Amino acid sequence: MATDVDLHHHGDSDVGPGLVDLAVNVRPDAPPAWLLARLTGALGRLAAYPDQAAARAAVAARHGRSADSVLLTSGAAEAFVLLARTLRPRHAVVVHPQFTEPEAALVAAGHAVERVVLAPPFTLDPALVPDSADLVVVGNPTNPTSVLHPAAGLAALCRPGRVVVLDEAFADAVPGEAESLAGRADLPGLVVVRSLTKTWGLAGLRVGYLLADPGLVTRLQQAQPLWPLSAPALTAAQACSSAEAVAEAGAYAEELVRRREHLLSVLASVPGVDVVPGARGPFLLLRTPRDVRSELRDSGFAVRRGDTFPGLGPEWLRVAVRDPATSDAFVAALHTLLADDVPATGVARPVGSVALVGGGPGDPGLLTVRGLQLLAAADVVVADRLGPTALLDELAPGVEVVDASKTPGGRSVPQEETNARLVELALQGKRVVRLKGGDPYVFARGWEELAACRAAGVPVEVVPGVTSALAAPAAADVPVTHRELAQEFVVVSGHVPPGDPRSTVDWEALARLNGTLVLLMAVDRLRAISAALIAGGRAEDTPVAVVQEGTLVGQRTVRTTLSAAAEDCARAGVRPPAVVVVGGVAGLPGLA
Ligand code: SAH
Repeated sequence: MATDVDLHHHGDSDVGPGLVDLAVNVRPDAPPAWLLARLTGALGRLAAYPDQAAARAAVAARHGRSADSVLLTSGAAEAFVLLARTLRPRHAVVVHPQFTEPEAALVAAGHAVERVVLAPPFTLDPALVPDSADLVVVGNPTNPTSVLHPAAGLAALCRPGRVVVLDEAFADAVPGEAESLAGRADLPGLVVVRSLTKTWGLAGLRVGYLLADPGLVTRLQQAQPLWPLSAPALTAAQACSSAEAVAEAGAYAEELVRRREHLLSVLASVPGVDVVPGARGPFLLLRTPRDVRSELRDSGFAVRRGDTFPGLGPEWLRVAVRDPATSDAFVAALHTLLADDVPATGVARPVGSVALVGGGPGDPGLLTVRGLQLLAAADVVVADRLGPTALLDELAPGVEVVDASKTPGGRSVPQEETNARLVELALQGKRVVRLKGGDPYVFARGWEELAACRAAGVPVEVVPGVTSALAAPAAADVPVTHRELAQEFVVVSGHVPPGDPRSTVDWEALARLNGTLVLLMAVDRLRAISAALIAGGRAEDTPVAVVQEGTLVGQRTVRTTLSAAAEDCARAGVRPPAVVVVGGVAGLPGLA
């Protein structure tokens, strides 16, 4: 049994006298007057034993289900206990982070529970649920992440021989109850758990229900005591299922969207705070640079701690969406706490990290395993125009992509700006991947980026990459060494032409080489470079192969000689990125 976190901690333990309550997600201005009047009326009939028929019929009608598919419960909490005590799972799986009561109930009933713990941004990949699971518990929208999983993925989890418990306690806070499966009687083993607590402000009444196939409903009902719900609770279940009440909840859901947008917009100004993207519930999950919960209490705000949810730590907070004024006051307090947090005050800030990842020549398959691991864990990717740019489209939603490209003759981000950006992002606590084309240290200014990070105390890792200097020739069947033809190869930058005062290249020495010369960034200076090599003694008919966009779909090769290279490339319209290979290896006959 997992005992690492307190599964019995709930938001109500986080609130306290005099604190603004952002910890509990119950609507603060509820129950509405009309509902209170109905409940008060029910008190006049307390002498009679409660009869469930009308409430059950109303709930069934609200969801388009049959009455025998409905089990009314003393809040969603009772539903989880009934399920845990009635079902006999051999392999129970709970998808975390989520409301902890279902797991607590399963464990209390003696079942072993396997956790599937999602990583940020907490979207569910149904393939993560083991095939052998015969009980799966998942929340939608999920408490505490506020993530709404697509209905199709959840439906795909349902199959004969498996019970899928879908906690939809917050589904009515989503406009149109999007992605809800409450109306789906056709999905085998589906149990949808609903609550009236949040939207209707009825936490103290204890009323909820589940929707399942009639056979399971009967089994669960047999585990309930007689008269499990009080007459006022039944009155609430019936009243909140009317078309008018559902419309009222829908309007409140729309209002919540506006309030959430407001909270998101003000939170964006707080340094170092990350919000789990795609929130659709009446709360947000935040990650702050450090644990600020007790300081927030000192400032008058109670938030829900994150560390009692499996998969989260003390820097995570769940914050209820409230009216704009309350959100503004909360964000101002958070801002004050974190603005004081500059390193000079000596307050420890979690520092993120930078990985200088060599992305290879462009084909995503040529990225290293380490590089791929780091990309999968990145919060931000600072990318170039070269390298495996196709991978940027496959990053998890919410991963920020920063463009640091230098286009020859076009828009360029100055190197100093990129250095500063890497440091800044890491100091916000982010895991930064600096994705570079080829190898980070081959004409890529990787050293400057490393030095900037080291100077700022940012941890930095360097992951070598497959350089285009070797990969582009290889992709065009040009080996850079060959037992007879080339016993050395030299990789040279053609960024500045021979004779330019900025050049440190000894072109005369290169001209005397017998082996292979690999030129990068040389396309636009090919005329000057070949002239310098010929002047230095390299034969005019030395074979040359120019490989454009090596390993990418646009790859093409121009085969020529040293004296004709500039003209042939111009005629063929060769454009960067291209690698120029000079030497006997460039003239080897194709093997095909
Ligand atoms: N660090 C990179 C090189 C950066 S300099 C590496 O190790 O590959 C940029 C030059 O690399 C381009 O001008 C071009 O000469 C070469 N280059 C990068 N990707 C290439 C590709 N897919 N095909 C051919 N040349 C490429």
